[in-house]
Amino acid sequence: MSNWRARLAQWMQGRYGGNDTLNKWLLGAFLILLLLSLLLQSNLLNLLAILVLIYSYFRIFSRNITKRAAENQKFLELTQPIRRFFGGKKAAGQYSKTHRVYACPSCGQKVRVPKGRGKIEITCPKCRTSFIKRS
Ligand SMILES: [Zn+2]
Repeated sequence: MSNWRARLAQWMQGRYGGNDTLNKWLLGAFLILLLLSLLLQSNLLNLLAILVLIYSYFRIFSRNITKRAAENQKFLELTQPIRRFFGGKKAAGQYSKTHRVYACPSCGQKVRVPKGRGKIEITCPKCRTSFIKRS
């Protein structure tokens, strides 16, 4: 039963695996292109979808791990503004493990406070209003 798994693992050894952001986006692009090609009955989009899929599979099975990682790094740099836009909430969630963000009741300025200090008085850096919160 686990034989094929072991063989697959062995075969995948030394290959990139494609478990990165670029491949996730490639897969997403493939699905969108495929859907569009069906909707618009476009052979060109269909071809494009297939090329994107081939590229993502090429990356998964590639033995040139350094180059694939560099590719992903480059992609991350290029798409940072887009990902920040879409992933803004997620990033804030990760941040809140150590800090909490309160909005000043007077001017709405966001104030970041370290967690686990109990009741604390926060002074707004913008308008100097003090307010008490649990952190
Ligand atoms: Zn304020």
